[in-house]
Amino acid sequence: MNAPRPIAFFDMKAQQSLIRAEIDAGIARILDHGRFIQGPEVDALEERLAAFCGARHAVGVSSGTDALQIAMMAEGIGPGDAVFLPAFTYTATAEVPLVLGATPIFVDVDPGSYNIDLADLERRLALVQREGRLRPRAVIGVDLYGLPADWPAIEALCAKHGMFALDDAAQAFGGALGNRRLGTHGHATACSFYPTKTLGCYGDGGAIVTDDPARAELYRSLRTHGEGKTRYEVQRTGMNGRLDSIQAAILLAKLPLLEGELKARARAAAWYEAALAGHLRTPQVAEGATSAWGIYTIALPDAATRGRVQAAMQAAGVPGAIYYPKPLHHQPAYAAAHAGGIAGGPPPLPVSERLCDQVLSLPMHPYLGEADVARVAAAVLAGLSSP
Ligand SMILES: *Cc1c(COP(=O)(O)O)cnc(C)c1O
Repeated sequence: MNAPRPIAFFDMKAQQSLIRAEIDAGIARILDHGRFIQGPEVDALEERLAAFCGARHAVGVSSGTDALQIAMMAEGIGPGDAVFLPAFTYTATAEVPLVLGATPIFVDVDPGSYNIDLADLERRLALVQREGRLRPRAVIGVDLYGLPADWPAIEALCAKHGMFALDDAAQAFGGALGNRRLGTHGHATACSFYPTKTLGCYGDGGAIVTDDPARAELYRSLRTHGEGKTRYEVQRTGMNGRLDSIQAAILLAKLPLLEGELKARARAAAWYEAALAGHLRTPQVAEGATSAWGIYTIALPDAATRGRVQAAMQAAGVPGAIYYPKPLHHQPAYAAAHAGGIAGGPPPLPVSERLCDQVLSLPMHPYLGEADVARVAAAVLAGLSSP
């Protein structure tokens, strides 16, 4: 009997085989011209990224985390400022306000969309305002797993209270809301090109996308040590947040595949939905939203059931992962900031805590076949019905 074809959780090999010659040629050109950092490939990439998102500006930076940091530095966010963000997200979203001396205010998420819960956001904003110790300055909305957050509502709340609306679209490049791609929602959008993201390079990389020319100019300055009009004029305190030419060349080779890959991800998600809905909670895409399907995540009733499903997947040779096993307010590094953010103790975050026991991510990439999805789904369902 033949062993079944292994199923990759993410698959970067199949894609590479399609564009290997172009990648090799792009790298060879850079070895010849020698402008390894912020070379012509970065300029070309920025133009294509902006066009892809339908935004006016894209600024290439060194990672998604640095994209978040530069966007917040440009607003002058620092000590005494409150930055609202979901408790259920990747660590980088919370790390950046803390690095800048600001206070993260963790907000609960919606159990269906996994994204920031607007009612809870308003409640915590009112608590911070009433106390008057911290200035509410920004909301970081995360499009978790590729599912767009409720941007019209976040934008309206930020406009009403004079806050900066930052989209952490690290897991969602290519997603859309209505007829507008992510990159055009909020004041600015942080993108990550970490290898496993929907658009990934072969190292670290990122971009900040915005329609605002003044912000774009600030981002360009901040990523290069705050440089002014001339190279050795330091206008402001910045950082080293530049993008490598080789990573830009890899992204230029990959970008033409992305539209087709997003369709292939959506097709795989539809196969999962057909096989699993009715048995367990599948991801809920909001009305008018298009998920980028960066990560495909189901929710089981409880940790014990999830453990049985994981065991069945392992027995079937099917990979799985838990994003995330711990809500950010329980992380040792963030617990004190959380406790101190709202006087008298912040309200509980029950949905974020519960999801950490329930979520399970299944293989998701554009090169999954229908038979692969059927094998994963069969393993999940076997685990679900096992004693
Ligand atoms: C990956 C990720 C980041 C950070 O991106 P890097 O490029 O790894 O720095 C930030 N936020 C979220 C939600 C992410 O998934």
